[in-house]
Amino acid sequence: MTACEGRKRTVYSLQHSGSRLYIREYQGGKFWQAAESPALAEAAGRSGSAASAGGGLSRGLGTNSSFTQRGAEPGPGTGCPGRRLFQAGPGPPPHQVGSSLLWLCILEMASAKVAVVGAGVIGLSTALCITETCPSCSVTVLSDQFSPNTTSDVAAGMLIPHIYPDTPLHRQKQWFKETFTYLFAISNSAEASEAGIHLVSGWQIFKSTPKEELPFWSDIVLGFRPMSKAELQKFPQHRFGQAFTTLKCDCPSYLLWLEKRLKATGTQIYTRKVADLWELHSDYDIVVNCTGMGAHHLVGDKQLFPVRGQVLKVHAPWVTQFIRDGDGLTYIYPGIHRVTLGGTREKGSWSLSPDAGTTRDIFDRCCSLEPSLQGAKDIKVKVGLRPSRQSVRVQREVLSKGRVKLPVVHNYGHGAGGFSVHWGTAKEAASLVEECISALQGSSSRAKL
Ligand SMILES: Cc1cc2nc3c(=O)[nH]c(=O)nc-3n(C[C@H](O)[C@H](O)[C@H](O)COP(=O)(O)OP(=O)(O)OC[C@H]3O[C@@H](n4cnc5c(N)ncnc54)[C@H](O)[C@@H]3O)c2cc1C
Repeated sequence: MTACEGRKRTVYSLQHSGSRLYIREYQGGKFWQAAESPALAEAAGRSGSAASAGGGLSRGLGTNSSFTQRGAEPGPGTGCPGRRLFQAGPGPPPHQVGSSLLWLCILEMASAKVAVVGAGVIGLSTALCITETCPSCSVTVLSDQFSPNTTSDVAAGMLIPHIYPDTPLHRQKQWFKETFTYLFAISNSAEASEAGIHLVSGWQIFKSTPKEELPFWSDIVLGFRPMSKAELQKFPQHRFGQAFTTLKCDCPSYLLWLEKRLKATGTQIYTRKVADLWELHSDYDIVVNCTGMGAHHLVGDKQLFPVRGQVLKVHAPWVTQFIRDGDGLTYIYPGIHRVTLGGTREKGSWSLSPDAGTTRDIFDRCCSLEPSLQGAKDIKVKVGLRPSRQSVRVQREVLSKGRVKLPVVHNYGHGAGGFSVHWGTAKEAASLVEECISALQGSSSRAKL
């Protein structure tokens, strides 16, 4: 926040810790003074708008996280305002700052209202990431469907990346690495079982040696190596293979766990079909679009197309190793409760009805790789539409009608690899939300001071 007195430019930097807010004031780029707010409850009680957005604000204050607004960077020698809260700097002795009006402005700005549309793996993880990176935000998830009725519930949830042709490879690798690291930590924690995250080892097999023997993600999964001759004997029609250990999500469990974590942060979750993002402008400061295939209608994205996938979820607890044919079409992915047998990739098909002929074909293909599956029981058929694009759309956009503007962050189009990269794209989307907040604060402080 910036104010001008005479020719001197004043910059206020806001921090919160425990139940109090602290403000540091800089003049002419130099630290001037620090002051402490009234207790939060007292200040919030005086502010109608802050109280109504109180979930986000008090959540942020309770986590000792910082929220800094800069009209200009502090000058050399003043250090990082976030670390030197009470350290006196050069300048005149402190005086009391923090008129009610100033505190109320700060409280109001500290609780940007963010709506995340969509409750698949992308919407829920993005909402969670926003609460972690912008703890002062008030986050609401709006979606017409929730688990178990999303595409994300149908997925096998294997962390094996799919390539997005128009997204730079280093960015895809970063997304995968961040997701793998995040889920690996969960798999090693007491949360693993409830979150449905586990390690799984197995083989990716090829009828002929692929051009790329070392995929870009080979140094992220664990223990990547060529298969031994003895291992390849199990697959007489295949000549080459790669063995590795990766992570797998039990998708419905993971979605419920994400929802539970969101609720614990105070995030509001509502069932609502959004016909037009603009309809949210009067209630929210920023909208995050995580609608998967829904974005085709919602934002008219003609680059987004469905790739229909039919899979079988079967009971076959003796199958513990994954097997994936290198063409990506036939796969056997053992999970905690069920084994997923796949699959199909039908570009442009919008049909959500299971096809009996396809079910038989998938079952036969999988049995030819793992004959013991003939004994599989309780076969359930699922169909989902992969929200596909040449590149995932993680992007900022500002919608406007006349002088009214609505910042939007898009995060959709993850195609066949949403689980593999979700945390990486969620982090990127959350940092775009932070950029939107900074831009809003810039315009808001110009208007108020
Ligand atoms: C058969 C199959 C197997 C797969 N296996 C894997 C795998 O092993 N590994 C992997 O990484 N990926 C896999 N995927 C891909 C993965 O499922 C997707 O990339 C991922 O689920 C996309 O998540 P999403 O949140 O974008 O979409 P979704 O899960 O479809 O969520 C979109 C959300 O937006 C909501 N929504 C849409 N429009 C609106 C609107 N107008 N108003 C309000 N809400 C709206 C929906 O209700 C839903 O809650 C698989 C996909 C399929 C189909």
